[in-house]
Amino acid sequence: MLQQLRYLVELQALEDKKSGLIRGCNDTPRRMAEIEQEYTRFEQALLTRQAEGEHARKVHRSLEQSIADLENRIARSKLRMNEVKTNKEYQAILREIDDFKVEIRRKEDEALEMMEQIEKIVRELKTLESEFEAHKVRLDADRKVLQEEADQLKARLDQLDALAAEIRMKIDPVLLKRCDSLLERQSGIAVAPVEAGSCRVCHLNIPPQKFIELQRDEAILQCPHCHRFLFWTGNEAYAVMDEDLGISA
Ligand SMILES: [Zn+2]
Repeated sequence: MLQQLRYLVELQALEDKKSGLIRGCNDTPRRMAEIEQEYTRFEQALLTRQAEGEHARKVHRSLEQSIADLENRIARSKLRMNEVKTNKEYQAILREIDDFKVEIRRKEDEALEMMEQIEKIVRELKTLESEFEAHKVRLDADRKVLQEEADQLKARLDQLDALAAEIRMKIDPVLLKRCDSLLERQSGIAVAPVEAGSCRVCHLNIPPQKFIELQRDEAILQCPHCHRFLFWTGNEAYAVMDEDLGISA
């Protein structure tokens, strides 16, 4: 077994695990945003209904004010009755009072309708508010779970980074430099397994002579197409298990 190649394979295994975890991590902000959005929608519905309730109360107050004004006018008209001299004037004031009374009844009907609307909104708000409270509790729980997940992922990534750092110390600097440049340029994959004579990452065939060389396991080879370091999957020495990497569950 080529010890240096073994280290490269181990380093790649750690890189793969990290990429997988980071992909999982990337989902967290999106899920968080979804939860926040749902919360905002709920809050908005509640605020809208509250504003409608406020408006209905204002309309109701203004109707009551109008009714009070009309009643005052009736009282004034009645006072004027004592001063009139002709029957015609008297009749005119009576008509005026009747008109005020009709107007009052109309406004009273409106006020009653408005009151019913207010009561309906109050009942709805009660339900909405308790739903909102329950929602808030759920939201806080979801937030907590997501935060815990994010913390756990961060801890796992830190652990993988620490293990990778240990392996990096053991790799020849020239080899490591080549490996890092491949990791950067080749989508995070610097080491490729070879199976049935072809590179499993770029899927192109390795020339037969090179494949024989690889199986002999005498030198570190690179794929002639994608330039990644190669190892033959038929060689058990390069099979990397989690416990080999020192990864704890
Ligand atoms: Zn390749």
